[in-house]
Formats: sequence, structure tokens, C-alpha cells
Amino acid sequence: SPLLEVKDLQVVVGEENKVLLDGLNLTVNAGETHVLMGHNGAGKSTLMSALMGDPRYTVTRGQIIFRGQDITHETADVRARAGMFLSFQTPEEIPGITLESFLRTAAGAVTGKPVKVMKFRREMAAQMEALNMDPSYADRYLNVGFSGGEKKKAEILQLLMLKPALALLDETDSGLDVDAVKTVASGIKAYHNADNALIIITHNAKILEGLQVDYVHVLDDARIVRTGDGSLVNEIIEEGFTALKEDEAK
Ligand code: ADP
Ligand code: MG
Ligand code: MG
Repeated sequence: SPLLEVKDLQVVVGEENKVLLDGLNLTVNAGETHVLMGHNGAGKSTLMSALMGDPRYTVTRGQIIFRGQDITHETADVRARAGMFLSFQTPEEIPGITLESFLRTAAGAVTGKPVKVMKFRREMAAQMEALNMDPSYADRYLNVGFSGGEKKKAEILQLLMLKPALALLDETDSGLDVDAVKTVASGIKAYHNADNALIIITHNAKILEGLQVDYVHVLDDARIVRTGDGSLVNEIIEEGFTALKEDEAK
């Protein structure tokens, strides 16, 4: 059965119940890489937040099935323990909690088992080295004073340490310089295997280097209006969404 099945999803927000997603369908299997594209404000981040169980978004119709379990109305905690991970467009700063203690707590919460401290430290140090992160970052407060690129690397470090079954990456490449994008891309590649899946929101093909993109979805008017193979990424980057729509109308 699929890793994730989204069926006829309707999501509303705020006191006025503004409809942000309506009739959205998506199926993701283990081993797959999906890319989500669409103009600003199309609802891409909303979809990821709703999948992760962000309480600001209310599901008013449809279902989210993850690893065979209906999680439509479960809390974000339950979803994280079930193996879902969301990397935010703008990661939060958490004063008072170091990157290492945050990661160790998260790993313990996700696996439900006590984490072996030394082993965890060693693996974390190795992953940080692979991500070209200074080792001193392990003992710094999470994201506090981190540059944009360092915050994104810290998110990828979480991915590598927590090894979720489904990774939702929301513009993990935005604001990164060319070298940092390469490092982040290789981190994503190192994480991905036949047992997990990625949904990546991006406007940039560079982050996808080294990954085999299985499906590209275009979000518009609150639903997925087009699905194509990996070649759709460059088509959109070169032609834009308007040209795509005009193509469609022909
Ligand atoms: P994207 O990530 O595709 O740029 P978003 O999902 O962030 O788009 O936003 C989709 C639309 O929903 C936008 O019009 C945005 O203003 C609105 N929206 C998103 N979150 C909220 C919220 N918490 N409250 C009110 N409106 C929201
Ligand atoms: Mg794959
Ligand atoms: Mg967004």
C-alpha cells in the first residue's frame, strides 16, 4: 500500500474558514521523490502544514492516510512518531535548547526508545561534517544566530538523524548560496532510500541534483492541476506557470 494517500482533501483556515485546498489528491509510495510547484500563494506550504497536522489548518473534507493509518485528525506529535517530518520554509529559533539536545530529544520521542548518547554524538558529528557544519554548532542554541544557510543545514541534519519515512521539504534551498545548495542537495540524497519518500517544494532545480524525481505536481486553484515527470521542473523554470496554463488551454 502507498506510504501516503491524500484523498479529496479540503483545508480551511481562520475564523472565516477561507478555503485553501479543495479536492486535492496525492499518492506517494516509498522510494519516490515528488516535487511540488506552483506560484506564490498557491497553497504549497499549506498542504505541507496540513499534512503535518498544524492546528491552524482545519481539514473539512477528505482523508490523509499515512502508512495505512488514517491520521486526518491526529496531532503533529502522532504524525512525527509515525514517521513524518516537515522542514520549514523559515525554521524557528529556540533559545535555551542546543542543537544536540533538541535532536536527541526529537530522536527519543520519534523512536520511543532512549537514545545512546555517545553513539548519537558520533553519528551527529559525522553527519555535521558531511554537511560542512562547524562542530561548535552542536552546542549552540537551536537556530539562534544561525545564518539562513546554517538553519537549512540544521534541518537537513535533523532529516539525516531522525530518518523519517516521509520528508516534507518546504523551500529548503531558498536563500542559500550555490555551495550550500550543493551540500543540502547531497544531504537529501544521502537520506533518501527505497524505504522513504520526499515531497519537495522548490523553485530551483539545483536542489534536485542527484535525486531522481518521479513526479512533479503543479498546485493551483487549491488543487493539483497537473502532474508530470521530472522534466516538468525545467519546463516550469524556463517557461513559467502562465505558459503552462496557456499550453493546457490549447
Ligand atoms: P505557497 O506556499 O504556495 O506560497 P501558502 O500555502 O503559504 O502558499 O498560502 C496559500 C494562501 O493561503 C495564501 O493566500 C496565504 O495568504 C493563505 N494562508 C496561508 N496560511 C494562512 C493562515 N494561517 N491564515 C490565513 N491565510 C493563510
Ligand atoms: Mg527514489
Ligand atoms: Mg510557501
